Amino acid sequence: MERVTGESIPAGIDRAVVEQAIASGFPLLKFPQRLETAFEYEGSPDRCRQLALGGLFGILLYDLFLISDWLIAPDTFVTALWVRLGIVTPIALLLIASLFLNPPVAMREFLVAAGGVILGAGSSLYLMLISNGVHNDAQHQSIILILLFVTMIQRVRFWWSVPACLACFAIHAGGLAMLPGYPFEFQVSANTIFACAVVLTLFASYVLERETRMNYLLSLRGRLQRRDLDAKSRRDPLTGLPNRRSLDEAIEACDQPAAGGEELAVILIDIDHFKAFNDTAGHQAGDVCLKRVAGIIQSELRDYADDIFRFGGEEFIVLLRGINLPIAVRISERIRRAVEDAAIPHPALAEGEVVTVSLGVASAFLSREIRVGLVISAADAALYSAKRNGRNQVAPRLPMADIFGITERRIRAM
Ligand code: GH3
Ligand code: MG
Ligand code: MG
Repeated sequence: MERVTGESIPAGIDRAVVEQAIASGFPLLKFPQRLETAFEYEGSPDRCRQLALGGLFGILLYDLFLISDWLIAPDTFVTALWVRLGIVTPIALLLIASLFLNPPVAMREFLVAAGGVILGAGSSLYLMLISNGVHNDAQHQSIILILLFVTMIQRVRFWWSVPACLACFAIHAGGLAMLPGYPFEFQVSANTIFACAVVLTLFASYVLERETRMNYLLSLRGRLQRRDLDAKSRRDPLTGLPNRRSLDEAIEACDQPAAGGEELAVILIDIDHFKAFNDTAGHQAGDVCLKRVAGIIQSELRDYADDIFRFGGEEFIVLLRGINLPIAVRISERIRRAVEDAAIPHPALAEGEVVTVSLGVASAFLSREIRVGLVISAADAALYSAKRNGRNQVAPRLPMADIFGITERRIRAM
């Protein structure tokens, strides 16, 4: 999973996939495979917790039916006690415990649906059939509660609710048919009501699952939008390079105590006579030139270890990790030559003159005393020297070189 500002995005999910799923309306309550996996994976812990809680609540209500067993079927009350407390409750508790093993989705939904129907409706049917009480037919009404429990409280996925509801209906209809002397018209009436309950709860189950799925897609869309905005806010729109904000974060990371002891080289790059370029060729042409120079610098760096940022205006900054000053000077020289070799005509200079850059380079082993800011200041001072000495050149400097009296000639000789 990709992490962005504290939020995670499942691997392989992008905005196109999410937008497509939202637009399709997923009438069959199924997402494309990757999205479906992400939906189930992300929702699984919450779903298992919800099912466990619902299950405990359901067991409590189910066992409270002992009161009705006692009132309407006292002849089989002891059996009811055994069935409810001795068989169904422990099995249901085991099923609930198995949810904490994070079972596969199909297994989880099957266990909840089958558990509800077989244990709940099946045991109610059994208790209704074994009793000789005059009002034992009233037991069948509790089966409708099982139906509601499975579809509305446990919210078993729609495609598992369908067989669960049909099984409940079969148990209900079969139970009434097996009840000795139960009038046919009453059976039809009760079964019709039950069938209506099946249709209504399946409809509600479909709508609820669609809503759950849609909410998931909307939350994913929000996360993806925030990630894109976050990435955008870290890039300079003109050159596409990381911007000052990214630089500040990179500096902060380099200044962390854990990064201490690492050698870091900083190159500050400034386009020469760029104001004159703009004044002569116009701002738009200046923008095109800026983009080209940015691209040239980038192509001279190592993708994996070097970071380039737009420092502001026509200035760029490069952070080279694990690079000492002599090597940084060589890299800077390579960049300087690459820009010169690109031969971008400079409209404000003499015929044949091209766009060039000046570079200030500094390097140091970072420590509590020598922070990145100090290395950047040294590179800035070096850049100033490069400009003063005639531009289109590289000037190196060590942080605190003034204090130690280290000259540029000595650095170049290193
Ligand atoms: P030097 O050789 O001393 O660096 O001279 P310079 O003219 O390059 O430096 P100066 O700082 O005087 O001018 C920088 C110019 O960069 C000023 C501004 O017009 C131009 N600039 C800054 N940002 C942009 C930008 O985003 N697009 C364009 N086209 N020009 C920019
Ligand atoms: Mg400048
Ligand atoms: Mg400049």
